[in-house]
Amino acid sequence: MTTTTTHPPSVDSLARQLSQTSSLPHSLLVDCARRAITSAPTNAVAIAEQYAHELSSALLTDVINATGVLLHTNLGRAPLAHHNAARPSNIEFNLSTGERGSRQTAISALVSSLIGAEAAIVVNNNAAAVMLVLAALADGRDVAVSRGESIEIGGGFRIPDVMEQSGARLVDVGTTNRTRLRDYAKAVDNKRNDIALIMKIHPSNFAIEGFTESTTVEQLATLSVPVVSDIGSGLLDNTAPWLQGHTPTVPSWLMNEPAAKQALADGASLVTFSGDKLLGGPQCGIIAGQADLVAQCASHPLMRALRPGSYTMILLQQVLLSYASRSVCTDVPFWRMVAASISDLRERAESIVSSTGVGSVVDVESLVGAGSAPGSTIASVGIAIPGDIRANLRQHSIPVIARTLGNTTYIDMRSIAPTDDHVVVEAISHLS
Ligand SMILES: *Cc1c(COP(=O)(O)O)cnc(C)c1O
Repeated sequence: MTTTTTHPPSVDSLARQLSQTSSLPHSLLVDCARRAITSAPTNAVAIAEQYAHELSSALLTDVINATGVLLHTNLGRAPLAHHNAARPSNIEFNLSTGERGSRQTAISALVSSLIGAEAAIVVNNNAAAVMLVLAALADGRDVAVSRGESIEIGGGFRIPDVMEQSGARLVDVGTTNRTRLRDYAKAVDNKRNDIALIMKIHPSNFAIEGFTESTTVEQLATLSVPVVSDIGSGLLDNTAPWLQGHTPTVPSWLMNEPAAKQALADGASLVTFSGDKLLGGPQCGIIAGQADLVAQCASHPLMRALRPGSYTMILLQQVLLSYASRSVCTDVPFWRMVAASISDLRERAESIVSSTGVGSVVDVESLVGAGSAPGSTIASVGIAIPGDIRANLRQHSIPVIARTLGNTTYIDMRSIAPTDDHVVVEAISHLS
Protein backbone atom coordinates (compact mmCIF):
# COMPACT_ATOMS: atom_id res chain seq x y z
CA MET A 1 0.00 0.00 0.00
CA THR A 2 1.32 3.43 -0.84
CA THR A 3 0.52 6.29 1.42
CA THR A 4 -0.05 9.89 0.39
CA THR A 5 0.13 11.23 3.95
CA THR A 6 3.19 13.44 4.22
CA HIS A 7 5.08 13.22 7.46
CA PRO A 8 7.30 16.12 8.38
CA PRO A 9 10.82 15.30 7.19
CA SER A 10 13.54 14.69 9.74
CA VAL A 11 15.57 17.73 10.74
CA ASP A 12 18.70 16.18 9.35
CA SER A 13 17.31 15.19 5.97
CA LEU A 14 15.68 18.59 5.56
CA ALA A 15 18.96 20.34 6.40
CA ARG A 16 20.78 18.20 3.84
CA GLN A 17 18.13 19.05 1.26
CA LEU A 18 18.59 22.79 2.00
CA SER A 19 22.33 22.51 1.43
CA GLN A 20 21.66 21.86 -2.27
CA THR A 21 20.49 25.44 -2.75
CA SER A 22 22.07 27.27 0.18
CA SER A 23 25.73 27.80 1.03
CA LEU A 24 25.02 28.49 4.72
CA PRO A 25 27.01 26.37 7.21
CA HIS A 26 25.29 23.09 8.08
CA SER A 27 24.56 24.04 11.71
CA LEU A 28 22.59 27.11 10.54
CA LEU A 29 20.62 25.01 8.04
CA VAL A 30 19.79 22.63 10.91
CA ASP A 31 18.39 25.62 12.85
CA CYS A 32 16.27 26.67 9.84
CA ALA A 33 15.01 23.07 9.40
CA ARG A 34 14.14 22.70 13.08
CA ARG A 35 12.27 26.02 13.24
CA ALA A 36 10.34 25.17 10.04
CA ILE A 37 9.31 21.72 11.25
CA THR A 38 8.08 23.19 14.53
CA SER A 39 6.21 26.14 13.06
CA ALA A 40 4.84 24.59 9.84
CA PRO A 41 5.08 20.76 9.95
CA THR A 42 2.91 20.33 6.83
CA ASN A 43 4.88 22.80 4.73
CA ALA A 44 8.31 22.43 6.31
CA VAL A 45 10.37 22.27 3.11
CA ALA A 46 9.12 25.54 1.65
CA ILE A 47 9.26 27.34 5.00
CA ALA A 48 12.77 26.07 5.75
CA GLU A 49 13.92 27.29 2.33
CA GLN A 50 12.40 30.65 3.11
CA TYR A 51 14.21 30.82 6.47
CA ALA A 52 17.52 29.89 4.85
CA HIS A 53 16.99 32.50 2.14
CA GLU A 54 16.09 35.19 4.69
CA LEU A 55 19.17 34.40 6.74
CA SER A 56 21.56 34.41 3.77
CA SER A 57 20.24 37.67 2.41
CA ALA A 58 20.59 39.26 5.87
CA LEU A 59 24.33 38.47 5.93
CA LEU A 60 26.55 41.48 5.37
CA THR A 61 27.97 41.55 1.86
CA ASP A 62 29.51 43.98 -0.63
CA VAL A 63 26.98 45.77 -2.83
CA ILE A 64 27.17 48.16 -5.78
CA ASN A 65 25.60 51.53 -4.98
CA ALA A 66 23.88 52.54 -8.24
CA THR A 67 21.36 54.83 -6.48
CA GLY A 68 23.24 58.08 -7.07
CA VAL A 69 23.04 58.88 -3.35
CA LEU A 70 26.77 59.16 -2.74
CA LEU A 71 26.60 58.77 1.07
CA HIS A 72 23.77 56.24 1.33
CA THR A 73 22.76 55.75 4.96
CA ASN A 74 21.45 52.23 4.31
CA LEU A 75 24.66 51.29 2.50
CA GLY A 76 27.05 52.44 5.23
CA ARG A 77 27.56 56.06 4.07
CA ALA A 78 31.13 56.67 2.78
CA PRO A 79 32.59 53.56 1.09
CA LEU A 80 36.20 52.64 1.90
CA ALA A 81 38.59 49.87 0.90
CA HIS A 82 40.08 47.97 3.81
CA HIS A 83 43.12 45.77 3.70
CA ASN A 84 43.57 43.48 6.63
CA ALA A 85 47.01 41.91 6.69
CA ALA A 86 45.95 39.77 9.68
CA ARG A 87 48.74 41.39 11.66
CA PRO A 88 48.43 43.20 14.96
CA SER A 89 49.03 46.96 15.05
CA ASN A 90 50.69 49.35 17.48
CA ILE A 91 47.23 50.61 18.48
CA GLU A 92 48.22 51.14 22.14
CA PHE A 93 51.97 50.64 21.97
CA ASN A 94 54.55 53.39 21.66
CA LEU A 95 57.18 52.19 19.19
CA SER A 96 59.81 54.73 20.27
CA THR A 97 59.66 54.05 24.03
CA GLY A 98 58.44 50.44 23.95
CA GLU A 99 55.82 51.40 26.55
CA ARG A 100 52.05 51.56 26.48
CA GLY A 101 50.78 54.24 24.10
CA SER A 102 47.45 55.84 23.23
CA ARG A 103 45.34 54.99 20.18
CA GLN A 104 44.48 58.69 19.94
CA THR A 105 47.99 60.19 19.62
CA ALA A 106 48.53 60.07 15.85
CA ILE A 107 44.93 60.90 14.93
CA SER A 108 44.96 63.86 17.30
CA ALA A 109 48.08 65.23 15.61
CA LEU A 110 46.67 64.72 12.09
CA VAL A 111 43.24 66.24 12.80
CA SER A 112 44.80 69.15 14.68
CA SER A 113 47.14 69.99 11.84
CA LEU A 114 44.35 69.82 9.22
CA ILE A 115 41.82 72.03 11.01
CA GLY A 116 43.90 74.14 13.38
CA ALA A 117 42.82 72.41 16.60
CA GLU A 118 44.96 71.92 19.72
CA ALA A 119 43.85 68.30 20.19
CA ALA A 120 41.29 65.73 19.03
CA ILE A 121 39.83 62.37 20.04
CA VAL A 122 37.84 59.78 18.16
CA VAL A 123 34.75 57.88 19.35
CA ASN A 124 32.34 55.48 17.64
CA ASN A 125 30.10 58.03 15.90
CA ASN A 126 29.10 61.67 16.14
CA ALA A 127 26.11 60.88 18.38
CA ALA A 128 28.66 59.47 20.85
CA ALA A 129 30.85 62.55 20.40
CA VAL A 130 27.98 64.90 21.31
CA MET A 131 26.96 62.69 24.23
CA LEU A 132 30.53 62.56 25.59
CA VAL A 133 31.04 66.33 25.31
CA LEU A 134 27.83 66.97 27.23
CA ALA A 135 28.53 64.34 29.89
CA ALA A 136 32.14 65.46 30.40
CA LEU A 137 31.62 69.22 30.31
CA ALA A 138 28.03 69.87 31.40
CA ASP A 139 26.83 67.04 33.68
CA GLY A 140 24.34 68.52 36.17
CA ARG A 141 24.66 71.92 34.49
CA ASP A 142 22.85 73.84 31.75
CA VAL A 143 23.49 73.94 28.00
CA ALA A 144 22.00 76.72 25.88
CA VAL A 145 20.57 75.62 22.51
CA SER A 146 18.55 77.67 20.02
CA ARG A 147 14.94 76.49 19.64
CA GLY A 148 15.65 76.37 15.88
CA GLU A 149 18.45 73.86 16.45
CA SER A 150 16.77 71.49 18.92
CA ILE A 151 16.55 68.94 16.18
CA GLU A 152 16.18 65.27 15.27
CA ILE A 153 18.89 64.02 12.89
CA GLY A 154 17.31 60.63 12.15
CA GLY A 155 17.83 57.19 13.61
CA GLY A 156 16.54 58.44 16.95
CA PHE A 157 19.17 61.16 17.50
CA ARG A 158 17.15 63.97 19.11
CA ILE A 159 18.99 66.78 20.83
CA PRO A 160 16.65 67.02 23.88
CA ASP A 161 16.92 63.24 24.44
CA VAL A 162 20.71 63.12 24.07
CA MET A 163 20.93 66.06 26.47
CA GLU A 164 18.78 64.28 29.06
CA GLN A 165 20.81 61.04 28.78
CA SER A 166 24.08 62.92 29.26
CA GLY A 167 22.94 64.49 32.54
CA ALA A 168 23.04 68.04 31.12
CA ARG A 169 19.96 70.29 31.23
CA LEU A 170 18.71 71.89 28.03
CA VAL A 171 17.99 75.61 28.19
CA ASP A 172 15.92 76.63 25.16
CA VAL A 173 16.97 79.94 23.66
CA GLY A 174 15.14 82.22 21.21
CA THR A 175 12.39 81.00 18.90
CA THR A 176 12.08 78.34 16.20
CA ASN A 177 12.79 80.76 13.35
CA ARG A 178 14.83 83.54 14.97
CA THR A 179 17.47 83.37 17.66
CA ARG A 180 19.71 86.38 18.30
CA LEU A 181 22.90 86.90 20.27
CA ARG A 182 20.99 88.75 22.99
CA ASP A 183 18.76 85.67 23.53
CA TYR A 184 21.88 83.66 24.36
CA ALA A 185 23.31 86.50 26.49
CA LYS A 186 20.06 86.61 28.49
CA ALA A 187 20.28 82.85 29.17
CA VAL A 188 23.94 83.13 30.23
CA ASP A 189 23.28 86.15 32.50
CA ASN A 190 20.15 84.66 34.11
CA LYS A 191 21.12 83.91 37.74
CA ARG A 192 18.82 80.88 37.82
CA ASN A 193 20.80 79.22 35.00
CA ASP A 194 24.21 77.58 35.31
CA ILE A 195 25.25 77.60 31.66
CA ALA A 196 28.30 75.37 31.10
CA LEU A 197 28.22 75.44 27.28
CA ILE A 198 26.51 77.00 24.33
CA MET A 199 25.85 74.34 21.74
CA LYS A 200 25.39 75.23 18.09
CA ILE A 201 23.92 72.36 16.08
CA HIS A 202 23.89 72.25 12.31
CA PRO A 203 20.34 71.38 11.17
CA SER A 204 21.83 69.01 8.59
CA ASN A 205 18.76 67.50 7.05
CA PHE A 206 16.32 70.41 6.69
CA ALA A 207 16.24 74.15 6.08
CA ILE A 208 13.90 76.79 7.48
CA GLU A 209 13.15 79.49 4.96
CA GLY A 210 11.59 82.93 5.16
CA PHE A 211 11.69 85.17 8.25
CA THR A 212 14.69 83.56 9.92
CA GLU A 213 17.75 84.63 11.86
CA SER A 214 20.43 82.64 13.61
CA THR A 215 23.55 83.57 15.51
CA THR A 216 26.98 82.71 14.12
CA VAL A 217 29.74 80.93 16.02
CA GLU A 218 31.77 84.15 15.77
CA GLN A 219 29.04 86.10 17.63
CA LEU A 220 28.50 83.34 20.20
CA ALA A 221 32.24 83.27 20.95
CA THR A 222 31.97 86.81 22.34
CA LEU A 223 29.99 85.45 25.31
CA SER A 224 31.73 84.15 28.44
CA VAL A 225 31.04 80.40 28.05
CA PRO A 226 32.64 77.86 25.68
CA VAL A 227 30.86 77.29 22.36
CA VAL A 228 30.58 73.73 21.03
CA SER A 229 29.72 73.52 17.33
CA ASP A 230 28.19 70.23 16.19
CA ILE A 231 28.86 70.60 12.46
CA GLY A 232 27.79 67.03 11.74
CA SER A 233 29.06 66.54 8.20
CA GLY A 234 32.81 66.43 8.82
CA LEU A 235 33.69 68.93 6.12
CA LEU A 236 37.22 69.83 7.25
CA ASP A 237 37.64 73.12 5.39
CA ASN A 238 35.01 75.00 3.37
CA THR A 239 37.56 76.17 0.81
CA ALA A 240 38.08 72.45 -0.02
CA PRO A 241 41.76 72.87 -1.06
CA TRP A 242 41.87 69.16 -1.92
CA LEU A 243 39.53 69.82 -4.89
CA GLN A 244 42.03 72.19 -6.54
CA GLY A 245 42.80 70.97 -10.03
CA HIS A 246 39.95 68.44 -9.89
CA THR A 247 36.93 70.71 -10.18
CA PRO A 248 37.05 74.28 -11.56
CA THR A 249 35.35 75.77 -8.48
CA VAL A 250 34.20 74.74 -5.03
CA PRO A 251 30.83 73.04 -5.72
CA SER A 252 27.83 75.16 -4.71
CA TRP A 253 26.42 72.44 -2.44
CA LEU A 254 29.50 72.82 -0.21
CA MET A 255 28.92 76.54 0.33
CA ASN A 256 26.30 76.21 3.04
CA GLU A 257 27.99 73.38 4.92
CA PRO A 258 29.74 74.46 8.12
CA ALA A 259 33.37 73.33 8.25
CA ALA A 260 35.57 72.32 11.17
CA LYS A 261 38.49 74.64 10.41
CA GLN A 262 36.34 77.75 10.03
CA ALA A 263 34.22 76.94 13.12
CA LEU A 264 37.39 76.80 15.24
CA ALA A 265 38.83 79.92 13.61
CA ASP A 266 35.54 81.70 14.40
CA GLY A 267 36.02 80.92 18.08
CA ALA A 268 34.30 77.58 18.77
CA SER A 269 36.04 75.86 21.71
CA LEU A 270 35.14 72.43 20.32
CA VAL A 271 33.73 70.99 17.11
CA THR A 272 32.09 67.57 16.78
CA PHE A 273 31.56 65.72 13.49
CA SER A 274 31.02 62.34 11.84
CA GLY A 275 33.84 60.42 10.13
CA ASP A 276 31.66 58.82 7.46
CA LYS A 277 29.84 61.80 5.95
CA LEU A 278 31.70 64.50 3.96
CA LEU A 279 35.02 63.53 5.56
CA GLY A 280 34.75 60.29 3.55
CA GLY A 281 36.16 58.02 6.28
CA PRO A 282 34.96 55.14 8.45
CA GLN A 283 32.03 55.38 10.88
CA CYS A 284 33.32 57.38 13.84
CA GLY A 285 32.85 60.69 15.61
CA ILE A 286 35.55 63.30 16.21
CA ILE A 287 35.81 65.86 19.01
CA ALA A 288 38.43 68.54 18.27
CA GLY A 289 39.45 71.91 19.64
CA GLN A 290 40.79 73.29 22.91
CA ALA A 291 43.26 70.86 24.54
CA ASP A 292 41.95 71.14 28.13
CA LEU A 293 38.36 70.45 27.05
CA VAL A 294 39.39 67.53 24.80
CA ALA A 295 41.38 66.11 27.76
CA GLN A 296 38.31 66.36 30.01
CA CYS A 297 36.33 64.34 27.44
CA ALA A 298 39.16 61.80 27.07
CA SER A 299 39.34 61.16 30.81
CA HIS A 300 35.57 60.73 31.32
CA PRO A 301 34.59 57.13 32.23
CA LEU A 302 32.24 56.95 29.19
CA MET A 303 35.28 57.24 26.90
CA ARG A 304 36.21 53.61 27.58
CA ALA A 305 32.79 52.51 26.27
CA LEU A 306 32.89 54.77 23.22
CA ARG A 307 36.38 54.23 21.83
CA PRO A 308 36.65 52.71 18.35
CA GLY A 309 38.62 49.57 17.46
CA SER A 310 41.89 49.47 15.55
CA TYR A 311 40.31 48.99 12.08
CA THR A 312 38.44 52.25 12.45
CA MET A 313 41.52 54.11 13.68
CA ILE A 314 43.69 52.75 10.84
CA LEU A 315 41.11 53.63 8.16
CA LEU A 316 40.63 57.10 9.61
CA GLN A 317 44.38 57.65 9.71
CA GLN A 318 44.63 56.66 6.02
CA VAL A 319 41.93 59.16 5.08
CA LEU A 320 43.49 61.97 7.15
CA LEU A 321 46.90 61.30 5.57
CA SER A 322 45.23 61.63 2.13
CA TYR A 323 43.95 65.05 3.16
CA ALA A 324 47.41 66.03 4.37
CA SER A 325 48.97 64.99 1.05
CA ARG A 326 46.11 66.48 -1.02
CA SER A 327 45.45 63.11 -2.65
CA VAL A 328 41.83 62.98 -1.45
CA CYS A 329 40.33 63.01 -4.97
CA THR A 330 42.28 59.92 -5.96
CA ASP A 331 42.41 58.03 -2.62
CA VAL A 332 39.11 58.71 -0.85
CA PRO A 333 36.18 57.06 -2.65
CA PHE A 334 33.58 59.69 -1.66
CA TRP A 335 35.63 62.59 -3.05
CA ARG A 336 36.57 60.49 -6.10
CA MET A 337 32.83 60.22 -6.81
CA VAL A 338 32.38 63.96 -6.32
CA ALA A 339 35.30 64.81 -8.62
CA ALA A 340 34.37 62.41 -11.47
CA SER A 341 33.81 64.38 -14.68
CA ILE A 342 30.57 64.20 -16.65
CA SER A 343 32.48 63.08 -19.75
CA ASP A 344 34.05 60.15 -17.88
CA LEU A 345 30.67 59.14 -16.43
CA ARG A 346 29.08 59.31 -19.90
CA GLU A 347 31.84 57.23 -21.46
CA ARG A 348 31.39 54.53 -18.78
CA ALA A 349 27.59 54.50 -19.19
CA GLU A 350 27.92 54.24 -22.98
CA SER A 351 30.34 51.37 -22.68
CA ILE A 352 27.95 49.44 -20.37
CA VAL A 353 24.97 50.06 -22.67
CA SER A 354 26.91 48.96 -25.74
CA SER A 355 28.25 45.78 -24.15
CA THR A 356 24.85 44.70 -22.75
CA GLY A 357 22.57 46.06 -25.47
CA VAL A 358 20.18 47.07 -22.67
CA GLY A 359 18.91 50.54 -21.73
CA SER A 360 19.94 54.02 -22.79
CA VAL A 361 22.31 56.69 -21.51
CA VAL A 362 20.55 59.60 -19.77
CA ASP A 363 21.39 62.67 -17.68
CA VAL A 364 20.51 62.20 -14.00
CA GLU A 365 21.16 64.01 -10.73
CA SER A 366 23.07 62.53 -7.80
CA LEU A 367 22.54 63.48 -4.16
CA VAL A 368 25.20 63.87 -1.50
CA GLY A 369 23.10 61.97 1.07
CA ALA A 370 23.57 61.25 4.81
CA GLY A 371 21.65 64.44 5.58
CA SER A 372 24.43 66.57 4.09
CA ALA A 373 23.66 69.41 1.68
CA PRO A 374 19.88 68.77 1.73
CA GLY A 375 18.14 69.74 -1.49
CA SER A 376 21.35 70.10 -3.55
CA THR A 377 22.07 67.83 -6.48
CA ILE A 378 25.17 67.01 -8.53
CA ALA A 379 24.85 66.56 -12.29
CA SER A 380 25.50 62.97 -13.31
CA VAL A 381 25.01 60.39 -16.05
CA GLY A 382 23.07 57.17 -15.76
CA ILE A 383 21.52 54.25 -17.59
CA ALA A 384 17.73 54.10 -17.91
CA ILE A 385 16.18 50.63 -18.22
CA PRO A 386 12.43 50.22 -18.83
CA GLY A 387 10.44 48.61 -15.97
CA ASP A 388 11.16 48.24 -12.26
CA ILE A 389 14.04 45.74 -12.22
CA ARG A 390 15.42 46.67 -8.81
CA ALA A 391 14.58 43.28 -7.27
CA ASN A 392 16.38 41.43 -10.11
CA LEU A 393 19.48 43.59 -9.74
CA ARG A 394 19.50 42.89 -5.99
CA GLN A 395 19.60 39.13 -6.72
CA HIS A 396 22.99 39.40 -8.44
CA SER A 397 25.93 37.71 -6.68
CA ILE A 398 27.17 41.22 -5.85
CA PRO A 399 23.82 42.98 -5.40
CA VAL A 400 23.35 46.15 -7.47
CA ILE A 401 21.15 48.71 -5.69
CA ALA A 402 19.36 50.97 -8.19
CA ARG A 403 16.44 53.40 -8.00
CA THR A 404 13.25 53.85 -9.98
CA LEU A 405 11.21 56.80 -11.11
CA GLY A 406 7.87 56.12 -12.75
CA ASN A 407 8.32 52.73 -14.36
CA THR A 408 11.98 53.19 -15.24
CA THR A 409 15.02 51.89 -13.37
CA TYR A 410 18.04 54.20 -13.18
CA ILE A 411 21.65 53.22 -12.63
CA ASP A 412 23.64 56.31 -11.64
CA MET A 413 27.31 56.04 -12.65
CA ARG A 414 28.57 58.60 -10.12
CA SER A 415 28.04 56.41 -7.04
CA ILE A 416 29.63 53.35 -8.72
CA ALA A 417 33.40 52.82 -8.59
CA PRO A 418 34.75 52.53 -12.17
CA THR A 419 36.41 49.23 -11.14
CA ASP A 420 32.88 47.83 -10.56
CA ASP A 421 31.48 48.63 -14.00
CA HIS A 422 32.01 44.99 -15.07
CA VAL A 423 29.76 43.86 -12.17
CA VAL A 424 27.00 46.13 -13.48
CA VAL A 425 27.49 44.63 -16.95
CA GLU A 426 27.16 41.11 -15.50
CA ALA A 427 24.08 42.00 -13.44
CA ILE A 428 22.34 43.56 -16.46
CA SER A 429 23.35 40.69 -18.75
CA HIS A 430 21.79 38.18 -16.33
CA LEU A 431 18.42 39.94 -16.46
CA SER A 432 16.93 38.17 -19.44
C1 LIG B 1 24.86 63.15 11.39
C2 LIG B 1 24.81 64.08 12.52
C3 LIG B 1 24.87 63.61 13.84
C4 LIG B 1 24.94 62.14 14.15
O1 LIG B 1 26.15 61.63 13.70
P1 LIG B 1 26.40 60.04 13.60
O2 LIG B 1 27.82 59.93 13.15
O3 LIG B 1 25.41 59.53 12.62
O4 LIG B 1 26.18 59.49 14.96
C5 LIG B 1 24.84 64.53 14.85
N1 LIG B 1 24.76 65.86 14.61
C6 LIG B 1 24.70 66.35 13.34
C7 LIG B 1 24.59 67.84 13.14
C8 LIG B 1 24.73 65.48 12.26
O5 LIG B 1 24.66 65.96 11.01
